[in-house]
Amino acid sequence: MVLYNDTQTIAAISTAVTESGIGIVRISGEQAIEIADRIYRGKNGKKLADQKTHTIHYGYIADGEDMIDEVLVLIMKGPHSYTGENTVEIDCHGGVFVVRKILETVIKHGARPAEPGEFTKRAFLNGRIDLSQAEAVIDIIQSKNEYALKSSVGQLKGNVKQKIVDIREKILYHTAFIETALDDPEHISVDGYGETLRGVIEPLIKEIQKLIDSSDDGRIIKEGIKTVIVGKPNAGKSSLLNALLGEDRAIVTDIAGTTRDILQENISLQGISLNIMDTAGIRDTADIIEEIGVQKAISHAKEADLIIYVIDSSAPLDQNDYDILKLLKDKKSIILLNKSDLEMQVKKKEIMDAYLGENKEENKFDIPMIEISAKENIGIDILENTLKDMFYHGDISFNSEVYITNVRHKTALQNALQSLNNVIQSIDMQMPEDFYSIDLMDAYETLGSITGETIGEDLVNEIFSKFCMGK
Ligand code: GDP
Repeated sequence: MVLYNDTQTIAAISTAVTESGIGIVRISGEQAIEIADRIYRGKNGKKLADQKTHTIHYGYIADGEDMIDEVLVLIMKGPHSYTGENTVEIDCHGGVFVVRKILETVIKHGARPAEPGEFTKRAFLNGRIDLSQAEAVIDIIQSKNEYALKSSVGQLKGNVKQKIVDIREKILYHTAFIETALDDPEHISVDGYGETLRGVIEPLIKEIQKLIDSSDDGRIIKEGIKTVIVGKPNAGKSSLLNALLGEDRAIVTDIAGTTRDILQENISLQGISLNIMDTAGIRDTADIIEEIGVQKAISHAKEADLIIYVIDSSAPLDQNDYDILKLLKDKKSIILLNKSDLEMQVKKKEIMDAYLGENKEENKFDIPMIEISAKENIGIDILENTLKDMFYHGDISFNSEVYITNVRHKTALQNALQSLNNVIQSIDMQMPEDFYSIDLMDAYETLGSITGETIGEDLVNEIFSKFCMGK
């Protein structure tokens, strides 16, 4: 694949455009150092072009006679730079105006403004990183917790890329063998080759399936556990949210039904993120607004990874609780017996019996139940540990495991899996060998889209357009 890579030198502000300690203007391209020399006045009078790569220089930026700022300039000569091209970074004072002024000056002297993500796109087009690594760069920037960051860094180091390269290599070897054999039947026999191929493809199918399965964990690592807190009004949902957040964000009142709208909060607990949607209390009600909230709660509960059901254990269960318990079927959930600081009116066995209903034998109850007091901050640590066990089965290891965190990668893996399953089917049905190679090639191509070897310019542009400016 040859993608168009224009050779113009580009420049952008790479730090946030807001008042800060320093700002960085980055220049990349063949002429980066030359352009920088047009506006750089070195304290020692030397030109940047005469300096060694990977060195830092102190001086001023000026437009002709007009001094703009005192700066440090970092030069990196290609190919040993982020983009693979000559790169200059100008560290200036971090005022919005001064950083912009320097960028304008750089542009006036020969660079063009970079598009969002264009530096990383060049790193990809220059072959320094593959597409999965480029995508890891966005993920690192957007990481919201420690696990997300670790998995993105793993991907940047090339762990996804390496898996894909290995799988593709095997596929290619066998496709090539079949093709060669079909071209030269006198010398190479494909008799019984189907079974040999099965021995290769079946483990690959397992490997790809494992990667696809990792994507659930991957999404949770990256985006957090989609969590809905349900429970009757006054059960203590808002108080729980506050206890988790450690600040008074949700409104807590004694009047039933105050949490009408849905608040969304991202909470990081021991390295895992919970995206909590705090919903209106669930109950039969004539109040229209409340009703909307209840509907939202139900629909959110359906798409949640986790339902936290808060029960006011100081009051007896009623029909509303039985209705809510139904929501928990087929979902990962936790039941919290809140207000444990008061006299408990609800027994765990009662909840279990209500949940199991008539079919006590057929159904099983495996929902963790924890006694807490949101108000007194009791049991919150047990909740945190339970969550960790439920979603991560202990600690996540990033040493050998590869987590698929990108939807695009997941889709490609699913398509490749389908093609490889087709190969097995053709072997089962003893189809002619060229059938194998068609599906093998499909899988090969599809997997190549993950690393970026087999995708078109449009898609590449779309991926990089999601980047921020200056990256
Ligand atoms: P929500 O309607 O489910 O969001 O319930 P709130 O969080 O607004 O709580 C309703 C009332 O119960 C408030 O007066 C809280 O202070 C009180 N409350 C919440 N949690 C506890 C608890 O653990 N113990 C006690 N004693 N009161 C609580």
